Amino acid sequence: MGKTTGFMEISRQDRTYAPATDRTQHYQEFVIPLMTSEVSQQGARCMDCGIPYCHNGCPINNIIPDWNDLVYQGKWREALAVLHSTNNFPEFTGRICPAPCEAACTLNLTDEPVTIKTIECAIIDKGWEEGWIEPQIPAHRTGKKVAIVGSGPAGLACAQQLARAGHNVVVYEKNNRIGGLLRYGIPNFKMDKQIIDRRMTQMQAEGVVFRTDSHVGVDVSAQSLQEKYDAVVLTGGSEKSRDLPAPGRELKGIHFAMEFLPQQTKRVLGDEVPEESTISATNKHVVVIGGGDTGSDCIGTSIRQGAASVMQLEILPKPPEKEDKALTWPNWPNKLRTSSSQEEGCERDWCVSTKSFEGENGQVKKLNLIRIDWHKDKEGRWQMSEIPGSEFELKADLVLLAMGFMHPVHEGMLQEFGVELDGRGNVKASTCHYKTSVDKVFAAGDMRRGQSLVVWAIREGRQAAKAVDEYLMGFSELPR
Ligand SMILES: Cc1cc2nc3c(=O)[nH]c(=O)nc-3n(C[C@H](O)[C@H](O)[C@H](O)COP(=O)(O)OP(=O)(O)OC[C@H]3O[C@@H](n4cnc5c(N)ncnc54)[C@H](O)[C@@H]3O)c2cc1C
Ligand code: SF4
Repeated sequence: MGKTTGFMEISRQDRTYAPATDRTQHYQEFVIPLMTSEVSQQGARCMDCGIPYCHNGCPINNIIPDWNDLVYQGKWREALAVLHSTNNFPEFTGRICPAPCEAACTLNLTDEPVTIKTIECAIIDKGWEEGWIEPQIPAHRTGKKVAIVGSGPAGLACAQQLARAGHNVVVYEKNNRIGGLLRYGIPNFKMDKQIIDRRMTQMQAEGVVFRTDSHVGVDVSAQSLQEKYDAVVLTGGSEKSRDLPAPGRELKGIHFAMEFLPQQTKRVLGDEVPEESTISATNKHVVVIGGGDTGSDCIGTSIRQGAASVMQLEILPKPPEKEDKALTWPNWPNKLRTSSSQEEGCERDWCVSTKSFEGENGQVKKLNLIRIDWHKDKEGRWQMSEIPGSEFELKADLVLLAMGFMHPVHEGMLQEFGVELDGRGNVKASTCHYKTSVDKVFAAGDMRRGQSLVVWAIREGRQAAKAVDEYLMGFSELPR
């Protein structure tokens, strides 16, 4: 374990942010890392509990107590090896994971969990700085060919594992760049895109071939993949945005978050966004509908673009400021959280439903809203009802819909493959073998489990790789 009495002697210390007034002037990352000596001290706080709840709280079961101890002892390279044994991309999770591990940490019982995510990020960033991360070229080639459709974290993790097992892996991506939502969902200020490029270079050296601008079901037929490859893995994400079909929805200035966010990342990366399709928050009153991560990313981007005001609306009730640990620990608690983007200057309102959008000359100008009451019915199910007389209006020149995603896009690729869907419209496949209803076609990540998190996508990509390897070779030495 770290230092036996470390948790009693050393206080929790975490990364800080550059001041909001500075960081909103640009689109670069703004987290200020701890010094190496400070990270080692934080590692010393880990108690190496008999039952490490953090290990279970982490969806990829990162072996957290071991690397905490190694960091405390200054054995960074060994810590990197332990970290990489369960996580292909700690530089992604170390930046944008919500860290359910920290909610599960025993020290969270007193609100002072080990700064696990910060330590994870420090280990991997040091690994890259020191040049310790090199391609792992397989000793043997199997001659088997695998196509992976979608280059988000699930596709990338699956591709890296399969390439290291000696298979020839080709990743098809419809966008012009690799990364899925890591690239075009999560803004640059939360994760610099060079971080994806550097991994991509490593994976190319390991034998992975990337085909961008290749839309399966449009430019590339499903049939051609089935004919050319020994296995196909579908990791196309959950891209069907949830809409708000209220009167006035057709007005100009109402957009899905995923129409707005990729444009800004493209600009940052030097792409031209055509004038006629530009969605800009500059000098506008922006209303973001939806209270999750996607909504926060719309807020941070709008503020950087120079919005006149930003308001975020949520239909659910305001969560409690503090959780009841006895009821929630070690699980992820429902409590009020404030993201770095929300901190930068937006207002928030809860229990609000949109009745209609109103405009002038075809352009949205305001929202007609009503307050909601949430109560349980006789069967104990939550129901909502409008509070009579609580109608109000909100000025809006730009409305961003960030209410989540329904399921993967069914038209095109999924229809061509003819894979069976589950009750929620996701591709049906179990987490045992990740096989779809169609021979030699597998599915993982948000396309299989529905909208989720990067860390779950990495887990599914790794597990699907093992399942594919077993299918191709009859056995697999890949970790699950
Ligand atoms: C705005 C936003 C912010 C988020 N922030 C966070 C966060 O901070 N932390 C976190 O953990 N999670 C976050 N998430 C969720 C997280 O990004 C996803 O859960 C994760 O990326 C899913 O990974 P995936 O590989 O399954 O799919 P995706 O990342 O969605 O990748 C799927 C890829 O497949 C491609 N594709 C789809 N169909 C085809 C086809 N037919 N042919 C070729 N290519 C195809 C797509 O273009 C895409 O590149 C966020 C999501 C959004 C939308
Ligand atoms: S991947 Fe997420 S849950 Fe796992 S250790 Fe890292 S921050 Fe914690």
